[in-house]
Amino acid sequence: MTRTLFQGVEGIPDRTNEFRAAALESPLIPDPCSLIPVFDKLREECGVVAIHGHPEAARQAYLALYALQHRGQESAGIATADGQRLANIKGMGLVSEIFTDDVLAKLPGRMAIGHTRYSTTGDSALLNAQPIRVDSTKGLIAIAHNGNLVNLGNLRARLERDGAYFQTTSDSEIIVQLIAHSRAGTLVDAIADSLAQVEGAFSIVMMTRDRIFAARDPRGFRPLSMGRMRHPDGPDSIIFASETCAFDLLRAEFIRDVLPGELVMVTEDGVTSRQFASGFPQSSCIFEHVYFARPDSRIFGRWVQESRDRMGRQLARESGVPADVVVPVPDSGVTAALGYAEEAGLPFRFGLIRNHYVGRTFIEPEQRVRDFGVRLKLNPVHNLLEGKRVVLIDDSIIRGTTSRKIVRMVRGAGAAEVHLRISCPPTISPCFYGVDTPSKRDLIAANNSIEEIRRFIEADSLAYLSLDGLLEACDGASNGEGRNGYCTACYTGNYPTQWVDVEEILPAAVSL
Ligand code: SF4
Repeated sequence: MTRTLFQGVEGIPDRTNEFRAAALESPLIPDPCSLIPVFDKLREECGVVAIHGHPEAARQAYLALYALQHRGQESAGIATADGQRLANIKGMGLVSEIFTDDVLAKLPGRMAIGHTRYSTTGDSALLNAQPIRVDSTKGLIAIAHNGNLVNLGNLRARLERDGAYFQTTSDSEIIVQLIAHSRAGTLVDAIADSLAQVEGAFSIVMMTRDRIFAARDPRGFRPLSMGRMRHPDGPDSIIFASETCAFDLLRAEFIRDVLPGELVMVTEDGVTSRQFASGFPQSSCIFEHVYFARPDSRIFGRWVQESRDRMGRQLARESGVPADVVVPVPDSGVTAALGYAEEAGLPFRFGLIRNHYVGRTFIEPEQRVRDFGVRLKLNPVHNLLEGKRVVLIDDSIIRGTTSRKIVRMVRGAGAAEVHLRISCPPTISPCFYGVDTPSKRDLIAANNSIEEIRRFIEADSLAYLSLDGLLEACDGASNGEGRNGYCTACYTGNYPTQWVDVEEILPAAVSL
């Protein structure tokens, strides 16, 4: 089958498999396939941070990235500026592995931007780790980006025709090249002009030698918040972060979210803002509330904890079942399970214990043990499960293989019945906005009925939260009127933008 990467654009080769092959061969990173048996979850996107006006900007960025580590564990980087120079250090691995005291000492200046990454576009090599620093016609620019551009192919082709030379395969560099090629007279006009041309999901922080910029795409797919650190003897430091949990660690106070389509600039003279785009319906990623964001963060104007609690309560109202105990699949199912248990009047118990120290690689026993990966990560508490009718709460079923292993584990520990409840609707379509999802043919709910999935995972019953229930729990509506407007494309197949990968959304039967 000839593959069309972008709707309406012919002749743009799909390099996804090439990138994946390169990633698998890279000695710098673990084999991503080795992780699949451990956790069949959608992979996090990225986390970004920016600090302006702090004497230890690099160290503050490091702490903020530490708090955002759940958004990407593949690579991390920090760039700093001292008014003259722009330093940039990035590496493969966790934030704490890359940034020792010695490394942070090499990042001087009162401004910093940082990034923690799980690759969604471009290969996984260090070259594509962020921040990316580019010496453009508009001067040195460092950029860090969370999200995924969907009109990347035609923009890149146009820029190359105009003489652009790309150093990376990352879509973040597209934005820098657009800035460099913009005819606008000032840097801030060039940035606004460039951001208006890209389509898709982006929450971006940028830095020049003396300024910080932060922007969100016009539909507001990914979160980005602004905060302040007060200093008794001088001006406040301004901070931007993907999630507000980063502010807590820095003792920063939340000011507000960066608005969809807004470009904020911070200089020594203060904060200024402009809209580079307006009039687009909000389509913030509802899966941030379901799974990605930390429950102690406030995103899209509401606490993630509150949304998850309400998802659990609504799930109990929609699909309650006679049972003895409610057990979460840790960690992301915990808050929804608490809500479910309270609403259903059932005891909540940690019947599965997660080993938090499982690394990215491990030595398997010589004789392959059934379901080894999941058993390494989760262990049942036998005395809580024996003879009980268990309601198991999880946040998603992707391929179904991990869910089946967990159901087997709970039953193997003596549970009399296992009823699986999922705190969002069935995942039927892949994401093109910065979340790594399998193709439609690999999503179990895209190709099977709920009863077929129940039989596959060997549960006594299976139910998902309804789409209306999910929107209600997140104080949202699909039309966005007067409430949060959310993207729900992975549950509906209705994409808020026009550019999607055609093959990725073919159901299994068609793509065979
Ligand atoms: S498709 Fe799903 S995961 Fe992707 S942005 Fe939309 S809601 Fe989020």
